[in-house]
Formats: sequence, structure tokens, C-alpha cells
Amino acid sequence: MTLSTAPSPPPALEEEPLPHDGDDYHGIVSLDDEGFPSQFPESGTASEKSSFAADFYRSGTDWSSLLLSLEDSKQSDLAQDSGKKMKQANLFQIWGFKRNDAIGSVESGPSKSGCCDDGGGSSERKIVKPENRCSIFPDTGKEFENAKSSRKRKGSCGENRVTRSCPFYKKMPGTMFTVDAFRYGCVEGCSAYFLTHFHCDHYGGLSKKWSHGPIYCSPLTGRLVQMCLSVNPLYIHPLEFNEEHVIDGVKVTLLEANHCPGAALIHFNLPNGQRYLHTGDFRACKLMQAYHLLVNQRVNVLYLDTTYCNPKYRFPSKEEVLNYVVKITKNHLKIHPRTLVVVGAYSIGKECVYLAISKALGVKIYANASRRRILQAFGWPDLSDKLCTNGNNTLLHVLPMSSLRVETLKDYLKTYKEQFTAILAFRPTGWTFSEKISNDLELIKPVSKGNITIYGVPYSEHSSFSELQDFVQVLRPDKIIPTVNVGNAANREKMQSYFRDWLKG
Ligand SMILES: [Zn+2]
Repeated sequence: MTLSTAPSPPPALEEEPLPHDGDDYHGIVSLDDEGFPSQFPESGTASEKSSFAADFYRSGTDWSSLLLSLEDSKQSDLAQDSGKKMKQANLFQIWGFKRNDAIGSVESGPSKSGCCDDGGGSSERKIVKPENRCSIFPDTGKEFENAKSSRKRKGSCGENRVTRSCPFYKKMPGTMFTVDAFRYGCVEGCSAYFLTHFHCDHYGGLSKKWSHGPIYCSPLTGRLVQMCLSVNPLYIHPLEFNEEHVIDGVKVTLLEANHCPGAALIHFNLPNGQRYLHTGDFRACKLMQAYHLLVNQRVNVLYLDTTYCNPKYRFPSKEEVLNYVVKITKNHLKIHPRTLVVVGAYSIGKECVYLAISKALGVKIYANASRRRILQAFGWPDLSDKLCTNGNNTLLHVLPMSSLRVETLKDYLKTYKEQFTAILAFRPTGWTFSEKISNDLELIKPVSKGNITIYGVPYSEHSSFSELQDFVQVLRPDKIIPTVNVGNAANREKMQSYFRDWLKG
């Protein structure tokens, strides 16, 4: 029997610190009922027709009418703390769905009556406990949090619970669907909850207690939801990629998103002819321009991952970065043959970085047991065959991104001091972008201290600015709804001006 001599397990896997919604606010921001920061003027009436969401949809990609005037800004500052009425009671109702109908129309999955039955027309809703979040991976709170939009209500179980309102852009108009909206508890009128991929800022809110309705996702994402979050499998409805599935009368197709394993773009084709594409998180690439669903028929509304929707975000292709990482590794090992190579990674994503090193050097990959379990769930023989359970048996280790600090790595090296005298580490993230580096990887300067060398490499699983532009120009959608970095009006206006430019002519 071989006993593992691995060091004490590295810190828990963590999630990708995306520059997500509300990034500029560091997660501390008061949001209105639509999920936008509460700097917007109150309409003065509770009319749903004049809600920000309704205006937003009406205005297509031209949001100029939504900008604050100076006077509005002053008023909204005053209004901010004075308590706000809910402008958007329920977008599903605006779109003509009655709550009772919506509940009755659930096609599949366990009954929701136990969780959502709040007495028909009652304004009370079923809500989620604050602790009802991802159980294994910490929720980094990347999506903007909102203390003020949280409401205490009494659930049907008689417990006081807290929830947030589901932002409008997570609800697919004309359907009873939401996308990546699990942290809001039971979303009124929602018959199907779609999950684009297994990153916690998207699945946050899912747990073994989930009982609000069927979850639709890719088969791999479904496996992870069940395995890592212990969600009741009766709620999980895996949808094969590239196949049309009819759900509540809507044709739904998942397409490969080029993000993390299992990540999907979701294409909705409504009975009224409207077509939406929700990108979840994605890295646009040329291959997507050949997806016949996207190029042969117009997408009316594009829900776009705008993580790097700023021209300063230019980074090289994944392939260029992988070649660079392999080259640096080989060169380093020539000079320091007793080097331990470490790649930082989130719970899922960035696998190709250590796979590339593994293939180029013909070495196994060491990851701790919890990561190995996840990687094996991918069902990729290429990867599973390369995993090893003993850190002494290979020079290539995968560690949580948070471990990639000089002091932490120094400690880590001590555990393997018999074999290794130095560490070369890679931190693959779009965040390492620097304007000076841009596309020239050779300009990257590692952090080096003693026998620890750490390279930040711009290996991004989100689209660069120019990739977003190409994608939008191929699709030419009628409307674009950004889903990331929408937390302030200036950002939104800036993005809208890019969209206008791209769709000119
Ligand atoms: Zn993601």
C-alpha cells in the first residue's frame, strides 16, 4: 500500500474573482429593485411601465434616455436612504404571465407547490436563507450584493428568511425562464432555472435544500451540481449540447461557450419567433461564428458577458499563452532541473494550462483529492489518465489560485525539499493584463524572490474586447443586454457606445 506523503491539503478551492457586476463598488452597494445601484431616480409613481427595466428593454441598445440628469442625481441621492417602493413587482406579470398559471405550467421536475405556495395572490414570496449557498466553495460575492434590496419575509414554512430581488436581466422576457438566478430563492413565475456553468457567482444559492424548480444545464454542470452541492438529482435536467430541447414550448439549445468545462451559451427560440442568446461567461472565438443557430438566423436579444468590454483589455489567444508557458517551463528546468512547477487554478477552469505542461514534459499532474474528484467528473480520459495522488511523484502540481504567493509557496516547497529546490509558478488569469504587455508575452516580468518565481499569464476564459466586437458584428443582434460590470451608469453608457459603434452601418 502506498501512503501519500502529500503535505497538508492546500487551502480550499476558490472561485474566479471575476470583475463582475458591481465591481466598482467592491460589493458594497445599495441596489434598487431591478438589481441596479440605487443612484437612479425614482419615477415618482409605482408604475411598472416606467420602471428602469421596462425603459431599458424599450430603448434597445440606445440607453441615452436612461441617463441621469444632474437634477435627478441630486434627487436620487436624497432618495437613497428614504426607503423605496418596489417599482418592478414582477416582470413576468408585466409580460403577461399570471403567477398561478406559471406555477401550473411547470412541465417537469419535482413539484414546487411545497415551496412556492404563498397563497396565490399574496405578495409574500418563498425566499432563501442567507446560509443557503454553495456549500463547498466559498461564495466570493462577485455579483453585487444588496443589503437594501434584501427583504425579510415569512416563508410558507413559517420561517423568516432573507432574499434579494432577481434582477430583470436574469429573466428571459416572454418566457418563464431565468438564467443563473439561484440566489433569489423562488423567483415568482419561474418555471425553469437555467444554469450556464459551474462557477459560484452563477450557481450561488444552489444547495441540497434547493426546491424551487427544475434546473437546466449541461450534463457536466449537472454532475458537478449534484456532486459538489448535493442538489436533489430530481431537480437536475441535463441538456445535451447542440440538440434542440423543447421546454415549456420554447426551443432551447446549448452551445459550447469556450469558458470552463461544461459552460454553455444558451439559445432560446420562442414560439413568437423571438430568439435570445445568453452567453453566460464565454470566450468568443472563430468557431462560434460557424454555429449555424447564430449565423443563419438573427438573434434578437443578446445577453452578453461583458467582463472585458473595454478596449484596454487586449490579450493573446489561449494557444499563444500555452506555448509561452511551456517555453518558460522548459527553459527554467534547463537551468534549475530540481524545480517544482505549480499552476494556480480555480475550482474549474484553466485545466488546459497544466495539461499543456503535462503533455509537453510527459509528466503527471498532482492535485489534492477534492480537485481530483472534480476533474475526474469531467469524464476527460486525457486528463484523468494524467492525475496522480502523490505529490512526490511529479514535478507538476495544481494549487488553488490563492496559494500563489511567495510565502505560501515557500512553505509548500519545504514539504518537498527532498526532491525540489525551487518553485516556478503560473497564475493564469485575464487579470494579469497590463497595458504595457498587451499582446507581447515576452514583456511579462515574473515576481521572483529567492527560489520562488511566479509568472502572471493572461490566460483568459472571457472574451477580449476585440473578440467581443467580432462576435457582436457577426451576430448583429437587435439588442444587447450586458450582464457584467453593469453596476454603474458610466460603465453601462460606455459599453452602449461600443455596441453602437460595432453595429453601425
Ligand atoms: Zn465563469
